[in-house]
Amino acid sequence: MPATQTQKPPSHAALVIIGTGMAGVGLARALRRLGDQRSITLVSADSGDDYSKPLLSTGFAKGLKPDQLAQRSAEELGEELNAQMVIHNQVSTLDVDNQFVLLDEGQMIGYDTLVLATGAAPREPFSIAPSVAPRCFTINDLDDYRRFHTALGHGPARVAIIGAGLVGCEFANDLHAGGHHVSVIAPEGFLLPRLLPPPLGNALGDAFSEAGIDLHLGRAIESIALSDDENSVLQMDNGATVSADLILMATGLVPRTALAEAAGLRVSPSGITVDRQLRTSHPNIYALGDVACVDGVNAMYVQPLQASAKALAATLSGTPTPVSFGAWPVVVKTPLLPVVAYPPTTTPERWRIEGEGGDISALAENKDGRLIGFALTGGCVRRKVELSRAAPTLLG
Ligand SMILES: Cc1cc2nc3c(=O)[nH]c(=O)nc-3n(C[C@H](O)[C@H](O)[C@H](O)COP(=O)(O)OP(=O)(O)OC[C@H]3O[C@@H](n4cnc5c(N)ncnc54)[C@H](O)[C@@H]3O)c2cc1C
Repeated sequence: MPATQTQKPPSHAALVIIGTGMAGVGLARALRRLGDQRSITLVSADSGDDYSKPLLSTGFAKGLKPDQLAQRSAEELGEELNAQMVIHNQVSTLDVDNQFVLLDEGQMIGYDTLVLATGAAPREPFSIAPSVAPRCFTINDLDDYRRFHTALGHGPARVAIIGAGLVGCEFANDLHAGGHHVSVIAPEGFLLPRLLPPPLGNALGDAFSEAGIDLHLGRAIESIALSDDENSVLQMDNGATVSADLILMATGLVPRTALAEAAGLRVSPSGITVDRQLRTSHPNIYALGDVACVDGVNAMYVQPLQASAKALAATLSGTPTPVSFGAWPVVVKTPLLPVVAYPPTTTPERWRIEGEGGDISALAENKDGRLIGFALTGGCVRRKVELSRAAPTLLG
């Protein structure tokens, strides 16, 4: 029977994994698939339910209740993995010399090998006044989705989304499809600024505007206040205002490195520093997923973490295996205008942009004319496979 928050956590496991996101669970699954029988304890600050995070930004269009997004409960996951699950429990301290972690409720779990899969936390770009805080949300896990879903209620709501990156754009499209009135506010002048060159970001903006999503781009938030009639009013730097029932902050993610840093492991703003075998600066501690910076790269997408889980499982089972990420184009879930992007890691010499309307392909080239990345919208997304084969791999 798996341990839950109501049961006493085990005092020792051969392998302790902190985090039950796709990285932590993916590693445990990959190990069991290899026939590895060691004792495993997974610790999670959240509910520990098994779910696919990318599906969080597709649930409102389909009218999915939070529990329909959970593929398995933590208890079922523990049974599947033959692992102890310690949920709704935060690891507060990591003692690398004595090889144990301390939970916030004071219990200690010893380990032979430790894996940090603590993901990334939403960035808070400004402080929120207590009066509007109950209307401000982030959605970075299933528990967040549960809270936001409850706050939305049954009728259509006015939702102001702050941020025009992947998470902001996907929720804008999804909430709009779910019947809500959506406004997007962001300081950048076009959508998906870290994934697309301006013409493609503008094409997505046109598709959003035509559908009725209000865009306030190139605008900073000056203040958020509660009006006398209980509306949240977002004031922008041009003096214009947006009234909303709920505010969704989609202002980026920061790797959760505090635990590792306090324990003396090497970290950087990009994550916990690991080598190609996912080993931290401490020999029997590893990291993967959104929290890990692998040989200088923190991808924060599913394909690289799946490659990491597979490689680390092999390494821990006795076959040292460096991870290769390959080329991982990002499929942005904006049905109003499909988008695929594989952004270049260095500034391109030029973007070769072709197409019209919403069907655009943009190829990033270096000074020798070699393809170093690409972005596709509309009907051009069908070029994804062909261009992925031609694009350079990272950590190849
Ligand atoms: C809305 C949305 C849509 C996305 N869509 C896509 C997509 O289409 N394609 C794609 O490739 N990527 C997508 N991503 C990114 C992708 O989902 C993430 O890269 C991936 O899920 C990260 O998994 P992870 O396991 O590293 O981290 P997380 O899922 O964040 O898991 C971290 C875990 O660590 C636990 N934890 C943290 N600190 C502690 C602690 N101190 N003690 C105990 N537990 C702790 C947390 O509770 C959690 O269980 C999307 C992300 C979001 C938010």
